Amino acid sequence: MDYPDIVIAVDGCSSTGKSSFARALASALGFLYLDSGALYRTVTLFAREQGLISRLGKVDPALERLLPSLHIHFNADGKACIGPRCVDPAIRTMEISSMVSPVSALPYVRRFVDALLHSLGSTGRIVMDGRDIGTTVFPDAQLKIFMTASEEVRARRRYNELVAKGEHPSLEEVVANLRERDYIDSHREASPLRQASDAFVLDNSEMTISEEVAWTLGLIRGRFDLKA
Ligand code: C5P
Repeated sequence: MDYPDIVIAVDGCSSTGKSSFARALASALGFLYLDSGALYRTVTLFAREQGLISRLGKVDPALERLLPSLHIHFNADGKACIGPRCVDPAIRTMEISSMVSPVSALPYVRRFVDALLHSLGSTGRIVMDGRDIGTTVFPDAQLKIFMTASEEVRARRRYNELVAKGEHPSLEEVVANLRERDYIDSHREASPLRQASDAFVLDNSEMTISEEVAWTLGLIRGRFDLKA
């Protein structure tokens, strides 16, 4: 099937399964997948390693001056890298998860990441996931999906992911982190997380990834009048 050169924005709260879905959708369409959260996580890791985040989570404003020296790109496996160093899974620990939302709320960090997202997504044929892709980064995206899932399902998914990576948080810690990030992400001044008015809602609490992809491909065929 020949799909049009469109941008697909996938937004939603933490651990709603956005990245697994967006990656599978991109692969089904032959599009590029771009994980915007990985960029915010990489900026956070960088700030942490530069000693710019205090124990209490305060970010040193010197970060703004240092950002132009941070060269982030995605390698052939779609993993975020700083120069030659692949920083995935270092960006996915609980420690980075607990620091990323305050860092992402800083307007100069958003400007830095937005510029990168625009240069990476300028050619279309891309599925990008995040919190503000359909509202701020690509408000003209031809298809917007807003993902939701029950808190229980989200916490369990995140918990299993962390355990598979060798971390041992309690389920309560995971729930607390999800709630805190959702709160900060949706209450910040700079492009807060919210559902775009023209987004389709996908509640995947009880869906498999293949069902989610099949549902979306049906949506695309209907919207762009493509034959199955
Ligand atoms: O998607 P993921 O959970 O990896 O994102 C990590 C964090 O990055 C989010 O909690 C949010 O603070 C920030 N983020 C954002 N805007 C995006 C993507 C992620 O603020 N478009």
